[in-house]
Amino acid sequence: MNHAIATSASTCTTLERWLTGPRVDAVPMRAPGHPPPLLSFEFSPPRTEALETQLWQCIRRLEPLHPRFVSVTYGAGGSTQARTHATVARLAAETSLTPAAHLTCVGATRDEVDEVARGYWQAGVRHIVALRGDAPPGEEYAPHPGGYEYAADLVAGLRRVGDFEISVAAYPETHPGAVSAEADLDNLKRKLDAGATRAITQYFFDATVFLRFLDRCLAAGISAPVVPGILPVSNFAQALKFSALCGASVPPWLAALFEGTEKDPETRRIVAAVQAAEQVRLLQANGVDEFHFYTLNRPDLTYAIAHILGVRPKE
Ligand SMILES: Cc1cc2nc3c(=O)[nH]c(=O)nc-3n(C[C@H](O)[C@H](O)[C@H](O)COP(=O)(O)OP(=O)(O)OC[C@H]3O[C@@H](n4cnc5c(N)ncnc54)[C@H](O)[C@@H]3O)c2cc1C
Repeated sequence: MNHAIATSASTCTTLERWLTGPRVDAVPMRAPGHPPPLLSFEFSPPRTEALETQLWQCIRRLEPLHPRFVSVTYGAGGSTQARTHATVARLAAETSLTPAAHLTCVGATRDEVDEVARGYWQAGVRHIVALRGDAPPGEEYAPHPGGYEYAADLVAGLRRVGDFEISVAAYPETHPGAVSAEADLDNLKRKLDAGATRAITQYFFDATVFLRFLDRCLAAGISAPVVPGILPVSNFAQALKFSALCGASVPPWLAALFEGTEKDPETRRIVAAVQAAEQVRLLQANGVDEFHFYTLNRPDLTYAIAHILGVRPKE
């Protein structure tokens, strides 16, 4: 309690204090008649049969929400190449969804990467999320001899393979390996100028971080959509560890929200849904109408948050 409130509390009645105390705006609602946002969902290729079942339950639960596309990640060092391809091919063959395949520069020559891209094209996949990728844990990234060096080079290479729709990564809090925030923004512009059609951001928890980043993108001459990546926090301890690696800051208020829920998964899930819903509604109230969800192959939080955003299942 701040001093002003403590002082007035001692002299005012409760109602006077409520009616004269500090005010915040109400959490905004979508205006009537305003269309619901466009969504995309990200999945990871499963490592085991049990995880495969979990992934497909997740896909089937989210499919009726008619996302614009669903993307499948590519494991570090290209380690999931076959599983990514199999998942993307099955999405294309067995669902009504539009799949996008993540592809990285790591551990492969340009010819090998181009060959993977050609395989996607032949399987009818027309959307690639083009990334540099990372070195294995504990190692510095170094381009493969004869490989694409950075994501911008990969985007240019993909353009030569086929007329793909290409998404790239953006970092509202700057990529941890970037020389500076300006250099990182220049890099984003290079990726878009090389032929990418959209950027998807690393996740963030503070909506103002993203909105300020949009201002910087616009000032840098970027006009392509920079779609916010939303991570519903199903496991706070894990999110904390991952955030330290990928350079996403975890505000103290977020830690305070999850404090005490370590052994209480039910409360944790409700807290996670409320937190992510407030985040996306704030962005929505600021004009953002496209969202990319990191589902972690779990549908429930994403489904609930999509519902709150106004997205409903379609026949
Ligand atoms: C939406 C999203 C999806 C992702 N999916 C995957 C995935 O499926 N698999 C995976 O392994 N990883 C994935 N990642 C993580 C990503 O691979 C890492 O963040 C990686 O470290 C950078 O990839 P990038 O495509 O942003 O690289 P780049 O855009 O190439 O940038 C990498 C770094 O190099 C700098 N840089 C770029 N060009 C130059 C240059 N010419 N000279 C000097 N510096 C330069 C940039 O500023 C940046 O610091 C994803 C990230 C996001 C945000």
